[in-house]
Amino acid sequence: MTREETELLAQVEALLNDPNHGDNPLRATLARLHAFHRAEKQRLERLVTISDSYQRYVREDERNAQRRYQKSLRRQEKLSRISDGYQQLMHEHNNALKEASTHDPLTGLPNRRLIDERLPKLIERKQYTLVMLDIDHFKLVNDLHGHEAGDKVLVAIAQELRQELRDYDLCARWGGEEFLLLLADTGLTEAHAIIDRLRQRLAELSIQVGDNRLSITASAGLSEYRDGEDLLDQTLQRADQALLLAKRSGRDRSCVIV
Ligand code: GH3
Ligand code: MG
Ligand code: MG
Repeated sequence: MTREETELLAQVEALLNDPNHGDNPLRATLARLHAFHRAEKQRLERLVTISDSYQRYVREDERNAQRRYQKSLRRQEKLSRISDGYQQLMHEHNNALKEASTHDPLTGLPNRRLIDERLPKLIERKQYTLVMLDIDHFKLVNDLHGHEAGDKVLVAIAQELRQELRDYDLCARWGGEEFLLLLADTGLTEAHAIIDRLRQRLAELSIQVGDNRLSITASAGLSEYRDGEDLLDQTLQRADQALLLAKRSGRDRSCVIV
């Protein structure tokens, strides 16, 4: 209530209570107007109270909705972080699975499956020489020094092969102690020189196994890819025959089947 209103009401009440004005003809009307004003005033105050509490309720409701929204936003962010992490994990898992299914676990070299996958894409226009390389008398390494020693030798050989070959050559562990090499852009004569140098490096390896140092030799069979043939069929068969020839001729050598 304003000060002006308070003063006015006080004046009206004083006039109504003044016995000198008891006979005044305006008194009854003024009393009614005063009572009416007070009733209206109370009604207005009740309305203001209702409106205030409604506004409080609306503000509180808005705040709650805002809180709920923020909470669900945080939950969504958390879920999306979990989902991102999960997808990343799946991706890594898939890569690891792919790596495991296409590589030899002992040496880390590609296996047959990877070669099968890659070869069709490779054969386009280039010259290739295919080489089957097999360790000589490897069974003896196992028999004399144990399987673990044999494994160590295989790992050392794989490391040497990786080191010696060029990035665009392919090298896979084809079987137990047998490796397939595919020399790109390389004819038989050049390949022969490369493989003999490689075999020389392998023969110079001295692999520490317990108290012993082991050396090995390797035989190789080479064949050149002929346009239009199946590299993993005809070319490979000739390389296998060449390897057999190298073994039969006394091992520790490379042979070629033209
Ligand atoms: P050759 O000169 O005629 O090739 O004789 P070799 O003894 O090398 O050939 P053979 O095929 O008789 O024996 C191959 C041996 O290689 C037998 C097998 O136990 C061994 N081998 C195959 N895979 C592995 C392997 O992963 N680890 C070990 N330590 N030995 C293996
Ligand atoms: Mg062998
Ligand atoms: Mg063999």
